[in-house]
Amino acid sequence: MATPYQTLKDEAYEANREIPVHNLAVYTWGNVSAFDKARGVFAIKPSGVPYPELTSDSMVVIDIEGRIVEGTLRPSSDTPTHVVLYREFAVNDNHAVGGIIHTHSPFAASWAQAVRDVPLFGTTHADHIQTAIPCTPYLSKEAVERDYEKETGNLIVEQFRKRNYNPDAVNMVLVGGHGPFAWGATAAKAVYNGVVIEEVCKMALNTICINPGALPLPDYIIRKHYERKHGPNAYYGQ
Ligand SMILES: [Zn+2]
Repeated sequence: MATPYQTLKDEAYEANREIPVHNLAVYTWGNVSAFDKARGVFAIKPSGVPYPELTSDSMVVIDIEGRIVEGTLRPSSDTPTHVVLYREFAVNDNHAVGGIIHTHSPFAASWAQAVRDVPLFGTTHADHIQTAIPCTPYLSKEAVERDYEKETGNLIVEQFRKRNYNPDAVNMVLVGGHGPFAWGATAAKAVYNGVVIEEVCKMALNTICINPGALPLPDYIIRKHYERKHGPNAYYGQ
């Protein structure tokens, strides 16, 4: 049955179906949401439903206070993290965050478990972001006991403010001991960045295995690669 949120639910559904296509999660270990900023709502995967069983109708619509607006299933248990990121990054700070992905994709989760920023070793990384991929510290015991998923969102926001990172430019993060979150202007772009963070983490690990003394890419190559794809003089693609 069509609802006022049909397009948003379709967008979330399509994006969630992409998670297993790109091998970002087994079982139900990942979720994507799609945000409608004008209406202040997002659609997100229902909790614990395997990807092949998802339908557009099964998506749950949530408002920016975290209340269910539409849907019969329980939303992803990570929903409060999505609420905080949309509220702070998209609504309060006006960044182009229209979709968020969270998975436990293994290479990104490995760096998160090592609680290490991912150094900018190569141009694959530089094509997307121009800094190391940030990794947050562990959540404190108090924060975990207070409201685990909401505090995960707060921790990410706090790290970005502390480091003076712009979520439009740095659209991915690792949560210490946990795994990756990534976002983009749409849910599809969030999934794309979820794939990027996994691939970049895989390459960075291989780089360190081959040469533990590998150095970050020189600035002039970082700039060149970023500017090929972004900014006024971009010339990559058609
Ligand atoms: Zn998780």
